[in-house]
Amino acid sequence: MENWEALEESCLHCDRCHLCGTRHNVVFGVGNRESKLLFVGEGPGEQEDLQGIPFVGPAGKLLDDMLSIIDLDRDHCYIANIVKCRPPRNRDPQPQEQDACIGYLENQIALLQPKILVCLGRIAAQRLIDPNFRITYDHGTWVQRRGMLCTALYHPSALLRDPGKRPETFDDLLSLREKLRELNI
Ligand code: SF4
Repeated sequence: MENWEALEESCLHCDRCHLCGTRHNVVFGVGNRESKLLFVGEGPGEQEDLQGIPFVGPAGKLLDDMLSIIDLDRDHCYIANIVKCRPPRNRDPQPQEQDACIGYLENQIALLQPKILVCLGRIAAQRLIDPNFRITYDHGTWVQRRGMLCTALYHPSALLRDPGKRPETFDDLLSLREKLRELNI
């Protein structure tokens, strides 16, 4: 396992998949590298690509609001994505792109050793929890994976497109707060 600095350095210069050809910035991840709470989305969007930071712009603002509901902020968790470079036109990251990039996230997980993993959206949930994960039905449920307690929330972008999903997400956030208290995080 690499240390954080070596891992970030190699990621910032990565050309393992063709997404390196269209990116402005690699979006490695942000937050507290000592935290036991990890959020994972699918990949950078336009603003994230321009700024090199995950979850900025309107979806990032909503994620910050979601965190504040349960008395958290970015200093209390770590936030990363399945792929570190923006897929063109915000399409879903393709399986071969995910396969090329997942090693960085696996190393981030090995360094963090999170107790709780929260997937943001279907792509992350299908990659990290269950290939058949149905975000509409399975969000907010909890499973153990590789020593982590895992769940998934709707992606903030989905909540922006469909505010009708927000009450369910509010309940999921309260469930997350309970788990954080149970595990003393
Ligand atoms: S998406 Fe991941 S694997 Fe592809 S170039 Fe970017 S950092 Fe490398």
